[in-house]
Amino acid sequence: MSHLPNSLEARDIAYQLHAYTDARRHEENGPLVIEKGEGIYVEDNTGKRYIEAMAGLWSVAVGFGEKRLVEAAARQMEKLPFYHTFSHKTHGPSVELAEKLVSIAPVPMSKVYFTNSGSEANDTALKLIWYRSNALGQPERKKVISRVRGYHGVTVATASLTGLPNNHRSFDLPIARILHTTSPHYRTMKKDGEDEATFAKRCAQDLEDLILAEGPETIAAFFAEPVMGAGGVIVPPEGYWKAVQPVLKKYGILFVADEVICGFGRTGEMFGTTTFNLQPDMITLSKAISSSYLPISALMVNETVYGPVADESHKIGVWGHGYTASGHPVAAAVALENIKIIEERNLVGHVKAISPLFQKRLKDLAASPLVIETRGIGLIGAAELAHGAYLDKPGALGALANAEFHARGLISRNMGDSMAFCPPLIITEAQINDLFDMAEAGIEAVS
Ligand code: PLP
Repeated sequence: MSHLPNSLEARDIAYQLHAYTDARRHEENGPLVIEKGEGIYVEDNTGKRYIEAMAGLWSVAVGFGEKRLVEAAARQMEKLPFYHTFSHKTHGPSVELAEKLVSIAPVPMSKVYFTNSGSEANDTALKLIWYRSNALGQPERKKVISRVRGYHGVTVATASLTGLPNNHRSFDLPIARILHTTSPHYRTMKKDGEDEATFAKRCAQDLEDLILAEGPETIAAFFAEPVMGAGGVIVPPEGYWKAVQPVLKKYGILFVADEVICGFGRTGEMFGTTTFNLQPDMITLSKAISSSYLPISALMVNETVYGPVADESHKIGVWGHGYTASGHPVAAAVALENIKIIEERNLVGHVKAISPLFQKRLKDLAASPLVIETRGIGLIGAAELAHGAYLDKPGALGALANAEFHARGLISRNMGDSMAFCPPLIITEAQINDLFDMAEAGIEAVS
């Protein structure tokens, strides 16, 4: 596709290397330029409107164009645009946000550490875990287990935690000390004769077998999303968490719940931890914490984690870790206002009320012979596509469906051949119907 010289498209091709993109294909096709957003919609630079069925990247809980967030940012910019939280310094927004997060935490948490992305929150969790093992005089306890198809970020360590081939291939990852256990995806991972309940128990057994093979005294922590997002929206089978958590308890392994997608209402409770009755020691949050209007993320830790870390910092003189923008005052002010909106508008109750329709329309997509499975909970879901002609080209069908969705004014995200839907939490019933009408038509067009 050729673009006008000096157009945004041409300059984008000239100057940007994009995340998660085939750079040579981008040079040929160019970008989609999104110019503005309102509610669940965004508009491109030709004036075409799309339902943003991914809330950006699983992010914009309160929708685009929320003036209260703009005003909160402007107020804080005027007052104190930046200050840091290093070496005993603090400021109002970071204190208030930390206090708020502890007060709404789904399990008792004692401290909050601020970071700027989901990756940084998980990376910090990992460093804290290693630091804690040293503090406890257990230097051999450094291995960490995550799951195949889990997604925890893209730093060297968190891309290693991520259990997806594209995050490892050609990067020489994963690094040592990071192990992966079975993905809780029943359809692809079940063995002959296993029903869902047996499969859930076997996942826990696989985890225990791995722990025993490595030596339980060497395993420090387990990282998992309550519902896997980027791995294809994988809702664990009934009984999975009930079987997995006792294994962690048995061997004194810390549980890090990565709530970067699930947090702030997505699953129909404020946290996925509540939906699945989890007992994590650490929780990582990002995205919907500020509806991604500004980058901010957080790591919450309980006293079991905080205590030894605090002692060690005292012993050696410093917890030598921090990002310049940790707890950035403008981002923190926006996050606080965003959480206020989620609470005032009872968006969690709203998700509970409208998710049955969302899940029904998602399930109905399986009427197409192209859809081999739908998966979802709350306001998150995916439809997996398959067709004999594309069996040797994973992702090709998903890309085709994406193009058909785009043509109809719908933005989804294909994770391989799984089409994900994760709209802003403010979506209405009528808009859910519009979204799935377009998805149905798009899939029909590919068939
Ligand atoms: N954890 C989960 C569950 C995610 O979905 C993501 C991003 O999609 C991350 C961590 C990484 O977050 P970021 O892209 O902000 O680094």
